[in-house]
Amino acid sequence: MERVLIVGGGLSGTAAALSLQRKGIDAEIVEKEQVWGASGTGITLMGPALRALEQLGVLEQCLLQGSGASEMRLFDARGELIQTFPIPGLLGPDYPSVGGMMRPTLHRILSEAATEAGASVRTGVTVAALEQHADRVEVGFTDGTSGSYDLVVGADGWRSQIRDRVFGDEAPQPQPLGQTVWRALLHRPASVTGEEQFYGPGLKTGFTPLGPDTMYQFLVQPFSDPELPTAEERPARMRELLAPFGGVVAEVRDTITEPEQVDVRRLFWLLMPPPWYRGRVLLIGDAAHATTPQLAMGGAIALEDGIVLGEVLAAEGSVEAALERFMDRRYERCRMVVENSVQLSEWEKDAAAHGADAGRLQHESLAALAAPI
Ligand SMILES: Cc1cc2nc3c(=O)[nH]c(=O)nc-3n(C[C@H](O)[C@H](O)[C@H](O)COP(=O)(O)OP(=O)(O)OC[C@H]3O[C@@H](n4cnc5c(N)ncnc54)[C@H](O)[C@@H]3O)c2cc1C
Repeated sequence: MERVLIVGGGLSGTAAALSLQRKGIDAEIVEKEQVWGASGTGITLMGPALRALEQLGVLEQCLLQGSGASEMRLFDARGELIQTFPIPGLLGPDYPSVGGMMRPTLHRILSEAATEAGASVRTGVTVAALEQHADRVEVGFTDGTSGSYDLVVGADGWRSQIRDRVFGDEAPQPQPLGQTVWRALLHRPASVTGEEQFYGPGLKTGFTPLGPDTMYQFLVQPFSDPELPTAEERPARMRELLAPFGGVVAEVRDTITEPEQVDVRRLFWLLMPPPWYRGRVLLIGDAAHATTPQLAMGGAIALEDGIVLGEVLAAEGSVEAALERFMDRRYERCRMVVENSVQLSEWEKDAAAHGADAGRLQHESLAALAAPI
């Protein structure tokens, strides 16, 4: 195993490149966007994500440029505190149990580590042709160049073109859930020091601190408006949806004013049946298992895929054995995240009936994900 092509430079592709380079395998990324980066607001890094960042050697930097917490506070819609509980951590008492940071900052830290480790990246380029042979994959690129690789990794997200190209009609398509998630970047009041969630009539919202002065607010809308609002309409629509909430939610609501503060997207999920490879082309990250954010684990399992890929390619004697081992280590864990997140999302539509079930399933999922990868 000498040369691996990674298509897509998001969390899974960049983590894979870093992990491969550290094992002495040449990793080349092609990223279709002109700029290698990440857009969006904040990301919540649950215990498995922090553990993965530690394994990738970038945790300290992430914590310095983000925020950490070890406590969850639950409130009712009026803002009355219902419960405070510690979030179990995976890294011991010196580390927070959960982190929050800006997505572009996380991407920058990972991409700098990958390039320092020797990974190469070409932006504004993708795959134009792909031909599999017994011992290699020949790839033609949209910039007119070509290359020969021992393995091609499709890390190109939930609408993966590599998935369509290699698996064709046999691949499932992303499924809509009929839910919409809103996220807004806000100034953090001093009172918000950890994860906070507020349960309103059919709606859930909450805060994740991102740094000394910033936090992001999410809002799960368990139904979708027929059309997503335009950028200009988003602040007013988000404030309107938050109108039933009191407490800190009401205090900060009127600071949601700028279109660029607000991200809104419909939720989709996808789970590829095993195996996620055909010949010498493997799918990782959202290309194989796109989850809804109910467990906030999509990023964690994307990072883990990258780590495990480096480990199995370095340890096994053949590409076939490595890919089989990859599936043994990844399928069940990722299936559980996707299916349990979808179940939680379904129950959110009928929160009054399923509040207790949701608490139990969340707890069981987090306990299972604490196991080593
Ligand atoms: C609303 C929402 C909130 C979320 N919140 C959280 C959270 O708080 N915590 C968490 O852990 N996870 C969260 N997730 C999930 C997480 O963002 C994803 O699971 C994660 O980003 C997947 O990483 P990836 O690298 O597989 O895909 P992506 O991040 O989608 O990266 C794919 C990359 O491939 C590139 N690309 C696409 N097509 C091509 C092509 N043809 N050729 C070359 N490059 C291509 C893209 O430009 C991109 O750079 C959330 C998801 C959603 C939808």
